[in-house]
Amino acid sequence: RRPLLEVRDLAVSFPTATGGWLPVVENVSFTLGEGESAALVGESGSGKTVTSLAVMGLAGVSGGRITSGSVTFDGRELTALPEREWQRLRGPGLGMIFQQPIRSLNPAFTVGDQIAESARRHLGLDRRKARARAVEMLELVQIPRAAERVNDYPHQFSGGMCQRVMIAMVMAANPRLLIADEPTTALDVTVQKRILDLLRELQEQTGVSLLFVSHDLAVVAELCQRVMVMYAGQVVESGTASDVFFRPTHPYTAGLLAAIPRPGLRTDRRLTAIAGSIPAPGHWPVGCRFHDRCQYSAPGVCDVRVPGLLPAGPTAESRCLRVDEIELRGVTL
Ligand code: SF4
Repeated sequence: RRPLLEVRDLAVSFPTATGGWLPVVENVSFTLGEGESAALVGESGSGKTVTSLAVMGLAGVSGGRITSGSVTFDGRELTALPEREWQRLRGPGLGMIFQQPIRSLNPAFTVGDQIAESARRHLGLDRRKARARAVEMLELVQIPRAAERVNDYPHQFSGGMCQRVMIAMVMAANPRLLIADEPTTALDVTVQKRILDLLRELQEQTGVSLLFVSHDLAVVAELCQRVMVMYAGQVVESGTASDVFFRPTHPYTAGLLAAIPRPGLRTDRRLTAIAGSIPAPGHWPVGCRFHDRCQYSAPGVCDVRVPGLLPAGPTAESRCLRVDEIELRGVTL
C-alpha cells in the first residue's frame, strides 16, 4: 500500500516546573498505508494519545511540543507546518473523533447545522448542498430517519448516537485519515460494538485510513489490520493483527493478551496478568523500560541494555532483548 502517514523517531515533551522539558513520547515510528487501519494500543500513560495529538498538530493544545522526529502526510512534512496550513489540512486531510462526543458538539445548534458547517468550510459547498450532505452523512453513519433527525439538537441523541453524529461531522469533510481516540470507551458494550462495526463499514465504503487509539487490545482485534503496542512512551511491539494476537513478541503484549476477559477465566485475571503499574514519564527505568514488571527480565541484561525496535518476523517488530530466547503465548479470538 502507498504510505499515507509516516511517523519517524517522534519525540514529544512537556514543560517541567523547573523550566526544562520532559519527554513523554520517544522514538515512535510507524507507517500507515492508504486505506489501511492500524491501532495504537496501550494503558493510560503509555503515550498513545500524545502521539495521536502530535500527528494532528495538536501537541501544543496541552502544552507539549514535538522535540524531534518527523511526521509526513502524503509526503508532506507536518512538524513545522504553520497553524494556518494546519487549519486547511484538518478536515479534508485528517479528521479526529474523541471519547466524549457530546463535548465536541455545540448544544445551541442542530446536528444538521454542525455537519453542514463542516461541509461548507472544508468542501466549499453552498448552503443547500451542505444541508444535503448533512443528511447524506447521517445516513452514512446509519442514523434512522436522517432527513428528520438532521433538525434535532445534540441533547436529543443518546451517547452512541452522538458519537455517530460526531463521525458524520468529521466524514462530511471527506478526510483521508480518520484518527479515533478511544471513541467507544464512554459507551456501553452493545453500543460500543455497533460503533466499531460502523467504523469498519465506513472504511470499506469510503476507503478512509483509520488510526484507532485504544487501551483495549480486544476492541481492536476485529477492526485493525496492524497493531502498535505502546509502553512508557515507546512502541514496544508492532505487527499485523495476527502477529500481535497469535504470536506476540513482547512480554508486555503477552500480558495484555492474558488480561483480556474470556468466558471461564477468573475475573481477577487482569490483576495478576502484569504486576505493578506503568512508570510515569521521568521515572522510566534504565535499560528496558518494562524490566521491573517483566517476568522474563534477565538481571545484568534487561536492566542495563536499551532495546531497540527490531524485526521479529516478516511483518513484526519487537523491543525485547530476549525475543529469541523466550516463548510467549498468544490468544485465539
Ligand atoms: Fe522483558 Fe528483558 Fe524483554 Fe524487557 S528486554 S521485555 S525485561 S525480557
